[in-house]
Amino acid sequence: MAEEINNTQAPAAEATAPAAATPAAARGERPARPFGKRRFESRRKVCKLCAEKMDSIDYKNIQFVKSFTMESGKILSRRITGTCAKHQRQITRAIKRDRNLAILPYSLPKK
Ligand SMILES: [Zn+2]
Repeated sequence: MAEEINNTQAPAAEATAPAAATPAAARGERPARPFGKRRFESRRKVCKLCAEKMDSIDYKNIQFVKSFTMESGKILSRRITGTCAKHQRQITRAIKRDRNLAILPYSLPKK
């Protein structure tokens, strides 16, 4: 019911009044949360390798290289681990090298 009203009124409201003037609910957005209250704490992701000042990754350091793979054997993305572009490239190379040497699996079946 409320959505129907919003759908019909929203384009007209946007055309006539600036977005700031219309209430958040009318624009179909969630109402603004009280200032200073966040739903979760956002932590800055830091590249593990930069933090430890490692300039090269040893493919023989299996425990470390393995920590950048999923349980299924997939390589974890930069988005998840927070590694920088330079180190992600090195990690990828190390993982692929280990896969070729049968140290790490290409894939593992889902449980
Ligand atoms: Zn880095």
